[in-house]
Amino acid sequence: MNATIVLLPGDGIGPEVVAQAELVLKRIAEKFGHSFSFTSHDIGGIAIDKTGNPLPDETLAACRAADAILLGAVGGPKWDDPNASTRPEVGLLKIRKELGLFANLRPIKANAALVDASPLKRQIVENVDILFIRELTGGLYFGKATKLTNDDGSETAINEMIYSTHEVERVVRVAADAAMKRNKRLVSVDKANVLEVSRLWRKTATRVIEKEYPEIKLEHILVDAMAMHLISRPGTFDVVVTENLFGDILTDEGSMLPGSMGLLPSAALSSSGPGLYEPIHGSAPDIAGKGIANPLATILASAMLLRHSLSLETEAAAIEAAVDGVLANGHRTKDIAAGGPSVSTTEMGQFVLDALA
Ligand code: NAD
Repeated sequence: MNATIVLLPGDGIGPEVVAQAELVLKRIAEKFGHSFSFTSHDIGGIAIDKTGNPLPDETLAACRAADAILLGAVGGPKWDDPNASTRPEVGLLKIRKELGLFANLRPIKANAALVDASPLKRQIVENVDILFIRELTGGLYFGKATKLTNDDGSETAINEMIYSTHEVERVVRVAADAAMKRNKRLVSVDKANVLEVSRLWRKTATRVIEKEYPEIKLEHILVDAMAMHLISRPGTFDVVVTENLFGDILTDEGSMLPGSMGLLPSAALSSSGPGLYEPIHGSAPDIAGKGIANPLATILASAMLLRHSLSLETEAAAIEAAVDGVLANGHRTKDIAAGGPSVSTTEMGQFVLDALA
């Protein structure tokens, strides 16, 4: 297969971890006889420094023309001035919007070798294997925001939560397609006992599943109950779909389950164009440049890229198995070493390459 992959290393540890994922993708291309071409472009703080724009036009054009995009992270204290005219995160929000990346996939899987690093008991987290799908371009974060000054001088702020049928249908279909490839169980999370938007969400999800995916067992869970279940019985969930705000909170809660953020990848998909893949962690300015960042989340994001944008399941599974093997052999970067001996970013990358040899 021929594929064009755009790399957006970004800021902080972004370039360090993306470099390791690029090497892994090159090794996969060699091993399985594919031809991947890579181009690297600026986004976030580095793009502001060079052009004043966190998402330069040439970066966006390259992304539009690509088969898939691999991002490191954006942001850092250098660009945190609240009075600045733009911010690195604007680049991320803009690329999601421009490319119509409405479905955010976040697998949360316990790794047997690291399960004792979880803040929860081993027996609760050892079987966790959840695929969260968060709607990414609708709801409160994209609704109209208004601030009013009242007659008595106090202020009132209003954010609108808006969802239309087609926005729910398309993200539920992404979740249902994923559930069909897994255990055919889908949980839809809402607040239908209180919110009109959630009642539309629930009605639409039920209709799509009953009509188009009769084999799937669909369960509706209220978001407050889900926040509890995610801690008390996370191993019972398979695919979970929810709207933007609830997904933002629940996926961060879920990211604590496996015990290390440095291991979790994510994907943002559109209906047709390229998907964007990234680790869930940020630019970690506290360790940038020290060569100690954990590259595994970005390497696992590259596995998601192969699976979801290039339909290369065997190749994706090979990367995941290589990462599992490296961890099972006891290799650890500092963030997951629990004070024990640790390896550098490039050494960890090399262990994965060796495991793929
Ligand atoms: P962070 O995820 O960057 O770091 C939190 C902690 O985890 C830090 O101690 C960091 O050293 C550690 N850490 C994170 N990734 C690691 C890795 N791969 N290996 C080892 N340790 C790792 O979150 P933060 O400190 O809140 O944010 C830093 C910057 O990143 C901010 O500017 C924030 O806006 C930005 N950010 C960007 C994204 C993104 O690009 N998608 C996401 C979150 C935060």
